[in-house]
Amino acid sequence: MIGITSFGGYIPRLRLNRMSIFQNMGWFAPAIVTVAQGERSFCNWDEDSLTMAVAAARDCLSGRDKQATDAVFFASTTLPFADRLNAGILKTALNLKDDLGAADFASTLRAGTTALIEALTAVKAGEKKQVLVAASDKRLARSASFYEMWEGDGAAALLVGDTDVIAEYLGSFTITRDFIDHFRGSDRQFDYTWEERWVRDEGYSKIIPEAVNGLLKKLSLTMDDVDRLVFPCFFKAEHRNIAKKLGAGPEKLVDNMHEVCGETGTAHPLVMLIQALEEAKPGDRILAAGFGQGCDALCFKVTEAVKNLTPRLGIKGSLADKKTTDNYLKFLKFRDQIEPETGIRAEAPTQTSMTVLYRKRDMLLGLVGGKCAKCGTPQFPRTRLCVNPDCRALDSQEPHEFADTPAKIKTFTGDMLAVSVDPPHVYGMIQFEGGGRFMADFTDCELNDVKVGQPVVMSFRRRLYDRQRGFSGYFWKAVPLPMPKEEAPAAEEIRFDGQVAIVTGAGAGLGRVYSLELAKGGAKVVVNDLGGARDGTGSGTSAADQVVAEIKALGGEAVANYDSVATPEGGQNIVDTALKTWGRVDIVINNAGILRDKTLIKMEPENWDAVLDVHLKGAYHVTRPAFVKMREQGYGRIIMTTSAAGLYGNFGQTNYAAAKMGLVGFMNALKQEAGKYDIKVNTIAPAAASRLTEDILPPEMFEKLKPEFVAPIVLYLCSNRSKENGMIYNVGLGYFNRAAVLTGPGLAVGDGTKVPTLEDIHKNWAGINDMTGAVEIPNVMASFEPMLNAFQPKKEKAAETGGPSVKAVFGGLEKAFQPEAAAGVDVVFQFNISGPQGGSWFVTVKDGTCQVSAGAHDRPTTTIKMADQDFIKMMSGQLNPMAAFSSGKLKIEGDLMKSQLIEKLFKI
Ligand code: NAD
Repeated sequence: MIGITSFGGYIPRLRLNRMSIFQNMGWFAPAIVTVAQGERSFCNWDEDSLTMAVAAARDCLSGRDKQATDAVFFASTTLPFADRLNAGILKTALNLKDDLGAADFASTLRAGTTALIEALTAVKAGEKKQVLVAASDKRLARSASFYEMWEGDGAAALLVGDTDVIAEYLGSFTITRDFIDHFRGSDRQFDYTWEERWVRDEGYSKIIPEAVNGLLKKLSLTMDDVDRLVFPCFFKAEHRNIAKKLGAGPEKLVDNMHEVCGETGTAHPLVMLIQALEEAKPGDRILAAGFGQGCDALCFKVTEAVKNLTPRLGIKGSLADKKTTDNYLKFLKFRDQIEPETGIRAEAPTQTSMTVLYRKRDMLLGLVGGKCAKCGTPQFPRTRLCVNPDCRALDSQEPHEFADTPAKIKTFTGDMLAVSVDPPHVYGMIQFEGGGRFMADFTDCELNDVKVGQPVVMSFRRRLYDRQRGFSGYFWKAVPLPMPKEEAPAAEEIRFDGQVAIVTGAGAGLGRVYSLELAKGGAKVVVNDLGGARDGTGSGTSAADQVVAEIKALGGEAVANYDSVATPEGGQNIVDTALKTWGRVDIVINNAGILRDKTLIKMEPENWDAVLDVHLKGAYHVTRPAFVKMREQGYGRIIMTTSAAGLYGNFGQTNYAAAKMGLVGFMNALKQEAGKYDIKVNTIAPAAASRLTEDILPPEMFEKLKPEFVAPIVLYLCSNRSKENGMIYNVGLGYFNRAAVLTGPGLAVGDGTKVPTLEDIHKNWAGINDMTGAVEIPNVMASFEPMLNAFQPKKEKAAETGGPSVKAVFGGLEKAFQPEAAAGVDVVFQFNISGPQGGSWFVTVKDGTCQVSAGAHDRPTTTIKMADQDFIKMMSGQLNPMAAFSSGKLKIEGDLMKSQLIEKLFKI
């Protein structure tokens, strides 16, 4: 059996948010917005097709005997050398033996599939045993072109052979036709592209099916026998249509990866094939096609051996390892498409001596050092004398590969003065495991993230480009990896060092856990607890003392306080304990709580008051004096503890529910006073096992609901990392959700001068009750807006909003519909409008008709989200839709392209 025996992938770490291209160039080329979804991959400044091919090939060779390779094929349309065997550089970087064949495949985007067919043919003929095929492309496209949006950089590598075959080769079929969808003259940087519709209709949708059907016929198969269909095509709809035409539904079609990296040129059919292999099960048939002046089609059947493949980065892994940027100018600079001033330092001579490069080719391209045959000490570079002072043997060095040896950073620096495309220039000493060290340039990293002791992997990169002679020079650089978790330095954690926290009711349950965790995080904690019974009666000091002892045993700092939160003096004393001991208070967690459950009839005032005193007044008594200090400090974090009983209701807990919802009101008002001092107040509704819940929760739930699960979000909201203010979160186990008070869109009954009758209310009940498009309202003044707006005289309202109301826009949409512009259009536009006039409407355009309905459609083509005032401005022509989109005022989900129809379909 012959076929694919291994695969490897490489998508460069950098991704450009496509919207940033539009944001920078949309003024010039507005239409590019239609393909501005997701992100595209792009090379770091020191990467090119060759370096990417080396990375993919190393990934592919992992776990395989690389010296068994007897041919290397390298496919690309962006080879760094027009005349120097690029596959030869690839072979040297991989440290493969000299007695092998090597060839470059170029000049067409299907060079990758062609190289693969040639490799398979050579193995099938018995000429070769193991052939490495690498395909890679870093294509340049003109700024603001569709191609800049569509394309991405990337590489793929496949090993072809006759042992441990993971995908058996069933056969191939090729069409060669000089169809010129684009071309690049040999003296040009950019492609010249022909009309898109013609490329789609005459090229992709005819030539790909011809090759695929040709192969199926040759193999006596039908599309029913194929499990995954692979072919690149950057026209998303055409991609689906071609598959449909071939009889393959969306479940068979491998995604063209537009959203995650873009089309990687020559590499793309192989990148997509690897994506299919990564998910394949034994027995799956994969049909892959590569388009370009014709089309290659190949078919494989996945074998059981796919399960034994050693773990590798692959395409999946390199897609996950990414860094996304919005910096479009950096993208252009990294591709040499802009030329900022670099100063005279950049003019230093860059000529490479071919003599030295040849003599030291294994060292410079293959990172081969030496290992002393006498004492076993590795060293880089290889010298005549062993570096081990106890050995010092002469001419004892044997070649030793360092590229795959784990290493760590010993020292490093960030140099702002050195010439660098991406300053600062970061470099330092790296130490290889088992011995050997050298001064390396670091790449794919930010200076701030680099740490001594950090692991690095070696990566083959472009070290220089000699403009005068057109020569790319390569060497190895170190790529810092994330620190292993346990070695991560404390500074990166969210901590509370130097901060003072007050936790009320901290002698047991949730409060105890919060206190312990805060202390572990470096906070000094006032552990307050009255030490009473579950109903608030009695008192004692042992509860608080015990938690303080626990904290001290952990090496933390804590002080006990036994006051009741239920009195103003108690609250003041608690805060004074913090101020007298440590002079500040940064965190207050209002947590103390009791229960006195009774149905309303049996709820005597004493039980009502006791519960309100601890929960509601208690929070007031402690928060008020603490707030004085926080305001003075200009920093504070406050937590209220509510309950699902208050947020949603519970039988027999009118006192508790009232107090708990009262705390939400307290927070809502306090957040308005707190925000400008960087004081944040938030509310938690926990679910945890404690003495308050032991007879409420079923035993199996009680077991699982450990208070430790609640602490992380409470501590997060208490940290300076959190900027939330006025939020409510439910939390229990590892589940978190935000709760909020929502207000429906409502409606005006009458004209605001005549009091509505009961019958008017009855008639309008559905509208009054409607919560479609309900919104959160930030404060009391904002809550009056819908009411005031609803009765504003029409003229005034028009002046303020610049047009009619949201409802009026939708009311008039059917009239504004232009049937003649709707031929063949079948779409549903969902509008989700927020703000006081907000709500949800959907507009169905089909068979030349238009219907506007209130509410949400379950499968809209395009969803448009906007604030009411912006929507009105846009619909009345005062806000340009493109400007609204690029500024984030208009959000579009689903089919972006179809949203462009709105302007044509409606004349308002
Ligand atoms: P818990 O009974 O274990 O802890 C409450 C602590 O508050 C006790 O140690 C108690 O002595 C102390 N306390 C009571 N009155 C006090 C006072 N006047 N002054 C100072 N301390 C006083 O209960 P828990 O479950 O850890 O509850 C903590 C908070 O969480 C309470 O506000 C409770 O209402 C709330 N809550 C808990 C749950 C849950 O599932 N456990 C659910 C919703 C809300």
